[in-house]
Parts: sequence; structure tokens; C-alpha cells
Amino acid sequence: MNVKISAESSFRKKYEKASCFFLKTAKDVLNGKAIENFEIHQKVIIESFKSNNFNAEYNCEICRDTGKINGKVCDCVKTNIRKKLFENFDHSTPKGDFENFDLNFYSSESLGEEFKNNDFVLSERIIMEKNLDFCIKYAKNFSSISPNILMAGQTGTGKTHLSLSTARKVVSRGFSTIYISAPEMVSELEKERFTNNFKSEFELFNCKLLILDDLGSEFITKFSASTVYNIINSRLVKRMPTIINTNLKMKDIEKKYNEKDESGTTGARIVSRLIGEYKRLDFIGRDIRQQKLRTCI
Ligand SMILES: [Zn+2]
Repeated sequence: MNVKISAESSFRKKYEKASCFFLKTAKDVLNGKAIENFEIHQKVIIESFKSNNFNAEYNCEICRDTGKINGKVCDCVKTNIRKKLFENFDHSTPKGDFENFDLNFYSSESLGEEFKNNDFVLSERIIMEKNLDFCIKYAKNFSSISPNILMAGQTGTGKTHLSLSTARKVVSRGFSTIYISAPEMVSELEKERFTNNFKSEFELFNCKLLILDDLGSEFITKFSASTVYNIINSRLVKRMPTIINTNLKMKDIEKKYNEKDESGTTGARIVSRLIGEYKRLDFIGRDIRQQKLRTCI
């Protein structure tokens, strides 16, 4: 009995190591580059399978747990990697799913002439239904050529919820995804500047989908303004999709970032990218958090 427990604990340790390795090399495998490290992969995969079930002959009958079939990476490896990516994202990110996005918080009353679309007068609810539908399709079909999205509107209108739901679906399909608020991002990057360890910076520039929440709510300095611009611009140049949420109007973004910049152009450059290269979704409605509070009282 004791022997089995210690065997289990040793396998568990190896499994934990294997999990880390999986995450580090996940991108390579999904991009078809993992063949170079294949020998190590093979060992890691076999250890992982064994630690799940000592008695099983093979967990994957197709590749017999070698992770390779006809010179290609077997689907079981990709499935495992997707699972690991999702678990990692799920543990470190706030909840939010398409299923619990509640359209009942948005009024069906007509918004008047200003919001007329092809002779059809819109309501908050119609606009939000369209946004929800757009995000569901975006997440389902996400690929490296998907457009960038700008979610604009006041606090509490559902931007964070919809972008988190999109992220969760995209990561479950195996794309490395980072969801981060602008204040968190700036503080993380400042820390890295002092420790000379640029792990987060690398990921922000290279993940398949970046979701930057609450742009403009961070404390803006010369450093943060140029960093935000560099990330937005570099991802555009490399054609890597980004979703940005903001409560601010474009003219306020321009003013806020320009103020911290000697040349006075960073704000204008950020706004020109957001207008020219992002698909804009407008979020309207009354603050959902306030509505929920009132319901509780
Ligand atoms: Zn397999």
C-alpha cells in the first residue's frame, strides 16, 4: 500500500512538471513546430498518461501514447494542450460566459431618430443582441486573420463580460489568449522593467489573442503611454488580433495620452489605430451593476 502511495506521489510530481512543460511548448505544438523537441515530448506525454492511470495499456489507441502518427502530432496531444491552456486561463481569469450574458438588462424602448438604422429604429436591446451575436461568431471562427475589436461604452454596459466570454471560448479552442486590464498590464510591465525579466511583455506581444480591458483607466506616464502604443501597433503590424475595451470617448483618449508625451502625438496615434484598424462595437444601456444592486435592495 505504502509503495503504491509513494509511486503515486512520484508520478504526481512528474505530472506537475509535465503540465508546466506542456504549457511552455503548447504554442510550438499547435504551430506544428514541436517536432524538434519530439523526443522530450514523447517522454512527457507518456509520463502524463501513466500518472492518470497506472493500469491502462494506452490512453490513445491511435498513437499508442507516442504522441505521433505518420510523422505528425497526434490529435490526443493537441486535445491535452487545449485542456491545459484552458485550465490555466480559467484559474487566473474572472468568470464570464456567453450563456449567462443577460439581455434582460437592456431596454427594448426605441432609442429615437439618432439611432436609426435603415429606417429601423434601434433599442438598447437590439444593439446588444447584435454585439452578443457578433462575439459568439467571432469566438467560434477565431483565427489569426480575425479582425481587431474596439468595445466602447460606459461603465457597466457588459464590455468586460462579453470580452471575457469571447476569450474563454477562444482559449478553449487552443489559441493562447491573455485577458488583462490596462492598469494591471502597466504595473506588470513596470515590475518587469526593474527585474529585467520580460516574460509578460513577450506574451503580450505574442499571444494569439490579447484582450486589453479598460484602456485609459491606468495611471498614464510617458512609459505607460509609449508601451500601450507599442503593443497596439506591434500587434497590428504582425497581424495578431486584439480586443480593446474602453469607457472613454476617442477625443478623451487622445487628450489623456498626448498630455504625457513630449511630442504630444501618442494619443493621436493610438486613436488613429483604433479608428482605422478596429471594428467598433458600441455598448449602451444603464449600468448593470447598479441595476443588480437595486434588485437586491
Ligand atoms: Zn494519440
